[in-house]
Amino acid sequence: MKKISEIYGSKKEPVYSFEFLPPKTPEGDVKLMETVKELSQVNPDFVTVTYGAGGSTRDKTVQIVTEISKNYSFPTASHFTCVGADRDQIREILKGIRSKGIVNLMALRGDPPRGEGEFKKTPGGFENATELISFIRSEKLDFCIGGGCYPEKHPNAKSLEEDVRHLKLKVDAGTDFLVSQLFFMNSTFENFLNLVRKVGIRVPVIPGIMPITSFSQIERFRTLAGCEFPSSLIEDLQEVEHRPEEFYRRSLNFTVKQCRELLEMGVPGIHLYTLNQTHASYDIVRELKG
Ligand SMILES: Cc1cc2nc3c(=O)[nH]c(=O)nc-3n(C[C@H](O)[C@H](O)[C@H](O)COP(=O)(O)OP(=O)(O)OC[C@H]3O[C@@H](n4cnc5c(N)ncnc54)[C@H](O)[C@@H]3O)c2cc1C
Repeated sequence: MKKISEIYGSKKEPVYSFEFLPPKTPEGDVKLMETVKELSQVNPDFVTVTYGAGGSTRDKTVQIVTEISKNYSFPTASHFTCVGADRDQIREILKGIRSKGIVNLMALRGDPPRGEGEFKKTPGGFENATELISFIRSEKLDFCIGGGCYPEKHPNAKSLEEDVRHLKLKVDAGTDFLVSQLFFMNSTFENFLNLVRKVGIRVPVIPGIMPITSFSQIERFRTLAGCEFPSSLIEDLQEVEHRPEEFYRRSLNFTVKQCRELLEMGVPGIHLYTLNQTHASYDIVRELKG
């Protein structure tokens, strides 16, 4: 399987990737494979599968990644977090993942299990993704490693500047590329990118993009991820809140425009958070590829 860093290092055209969630039901499993099949028609450069909060999908994530790899030629990446495992367990799990031929890993600190407020380090485990990534490198586990980054700062960080200083340590520990939290203001991403480059981070920084598919998502993204929105977008979408087709059209237009501007800024690719829905991600990439 190709390493994702090789794709960013060699492809001249934008790199398009999709992120999927491990489903919770057998029907969800079937739907996810249908989604992957449909999205395969726009030739993704790679796809990733998340690791449920609290490590709840440990085996499922690997199972899905393995199944996608068996059926499609594009590379895959397994997400992995520090939650709920000490370093010996992490070593064993990662060796298991590597033995299945998976070479790409999104290495994250992780969020606590549902209902638990704050992230707590597992005794004998890791405090943040930097410690996890240093460990993977010291164990010579030969993964291409992606990390998360936060254009509007990570909620635990005191300031964006502090967060970016921590990000530099994460990259120096051996991160090959970064994928951002979702955001809706390109000026925010541009400001973040300037800070990132100023501290000497040189790896690809990929915008993570999620199309809005319902008006209620806006409040959720604000609360969960601290996202800011252009007021014109909110007005536009509110006007058609109860007209699904027009809502979809306006939201799609916004996302395509957002991606085009980012590509003009020189980002090497776009990572789409699909939430296992085909439509929007498919339409966006088809539009962008012209
Ligand atoms: C692209 C992407 C994919 C994701 N996939 C998943 C997933 O599959 N499963 C899941 O559970 N969650 C996932 N998340 C969510 C992520 O786990 C949470 O946002 C988590 O709170 C932070 O993880 P991280 O690895 O990005 O952060 P870290 O890089 O570990 O940073 C977390 C906090 O610690 C601080 N910090 C970092 N290093 C230091 C240091 N050396 N000293 C002091 N403070 C430090 C940072 O400033 C930040 O505030 C994903 C997020 C992104 C952006």
